Amino acid sequence: MDPILNYINGEFQPSATGNTLATVNPATGQTITTLPRSSAEDVALAAQAAQQAGQAWSATTMEERMDWLHRIADALEEEKETIARLESTDTGKPISLARRVDAARSVANFRFFATYGRDHTEPTFADHGAVNHVHRSPIGCVGLITPWNLPLYLLTWKVAPALLMGNTIVAKPSELTPMTAHHFAKVLSKLNFPSGVFNLVHGLGPEVGQAIVEHPNIRGISFTGGTATGKTVAATAAPMFKKLSLELGGKNATVVLDDAPLEEMMDGIVRASFTNSGQVCLCGSRVLVDASIYDRFKAMFVDAVNNIVVGDPTQEDTVMGSVISSDHQTKVEGYIELGRQEGGTVLTGGTARETPVEGVSPAGAFLRPTVIEGLSHTSRTATEEIFGPVVTLHPFTSEEEALEMANATDYGLAGSVWTGDTERGYAFAQQMDTGIVWVNTWLNRDLRTPFGGVKQSGVGREGGAWSLNFFSELTNICVQQP
Ligand code: NAD
Repeated sequence: MDPILNYINGEFQPSATGNTLATVNPATGQTITTLPRSSAEDVALAAQAAQQAGQAWSATTMEERMDWLHRIADALEEEKETIARLESTDTGKPISLARRVDAARSVANFRFFATYGRDHTEPTFADHGAVNHVHRSPIGCVGLITPWNLPLYLLTWKVAPALLMGNTIVAKPSELTPMTAHHFAKVLSKLNFPSGVFNLVHGLGPEVGQAIVEHPNIRGISFTGGTATGKTVAATAAPMFKKLSLELGGKNATVVLDDAPLEEMMDGIVRASFTNSGQVCLCGSRVLVDASIYDRFKAMFVDAVNNIVVGDPTQEDTVMGSVISSDHQTKVEGYIELGRQEGGTVLTGGTARETPVEGVSPAGAFLRPTVIEGLSHTSRTATEEIFGPVVTLHPFTSEEEALEMANATDYGLAGSVWTGDTERGYAFAQQMDTGIVWVNTWLNRDLRTPFGGVKQSGVGREGGAWSLNFFSELTNICVQQP
């Protein structure tokens, strides 16, 4: 496969130093290709290109930009299968999941913002003979930094509204998953999208990501990634008074109330636990279950988990592929061991050596879905983000206790409540300290709604009008007749 290149001012180019990194297929351990190991020099070139392109791009009308988003959506639609294959190879996720979620949602992000922009008008307020006009202008050049779990899905979630609001972009995908961002740049290039409006700089977080956050002409940063990285990003950006959106980690609770019809809901609860090997920031990794149904739930849950088809991501029937890297596998296995040390019992799964996955490359980073019970809800295993296929089970004896347990982490990104009584579920959900709660469903996303976390799961909201607000500066012009 050809090497991945930066995309700056409409040109594909290596890093200024010529240094490279390797991107590896985690399901085989094989190097796929190389990507630029860029530096602040490349970021400066990209920021300069973005600034130069900014004047013409911000002068286009909203209608013209919406037309561009539709054209990009059309082009991505045609490339869906390629995108799914690249994403599956780069991440180790099953091809079926990459098609259904990653490729489909990348198109949907552009389509959504292309049409959402149409309904948008700014208000005016008249008082004492003066009219106040709310005025919206682009931020300018924005930096978009994204993680490896949903690479193109999360990048396009930021690119589409940033372009719609007239900004130019310097983007950095995760160094672990650069392939679909590169492909996206190729799509833009083929469409003759204006040079310099979208720039892509590949490389390591502390080198390229940090340089993007530090660059004085990049006036807004939208970051999705881990909480620890988010702290570094905030520490750099805040004293520069940059607009900042932080979408960070989670340790989400799945709450199963005593009236939940388990037969009907088990598929959803298992999906919430293990989709993408548990590597979705919204996955429920702590399952809190009413003690009166705990034993029945446990038996059904473990049975359903044992039926998950773990294997080669290229096979159509695979439901769970590898995790993102062998380093991540080691980290997740460390948590399984920690769970044991903290007094937990592994009900199914375990380390790769204990329960190997059959029929896959021995160099692949595979783990079986793992369920642990018997841990305190305040243990490290039950409160720290593992971001892998590991779920802990905890019985509770009252709704008050369930709520106390659900809210007992530093995170507050997402959660779900499962019950036969939607009003009861809704009432419980309102007391959860978290950015999004699903009742009797999971990952059901309406792109018009606010998305983001509370506590250490983030600052700010994206989605619908919140994305438009983040990616623009709202000012007021008050006009008094002479
Ligand atoms: P990460 O924080 O290690 O990296 C995210 C991105 O930041 C990468 O592109 C990385 O190169 C870059 N980066 C690293 N150091 C940087 C620095 N000093 N300055 C600027 N950029 C830097 O996260 P990850 O391991 O790629 O992704 C997993 C994490 O992302 C999990 O914690 C997960 O919960 C979180 N996540 C959150 C959401 C959300 O919407 N809240 C969505 C997906 C993933």
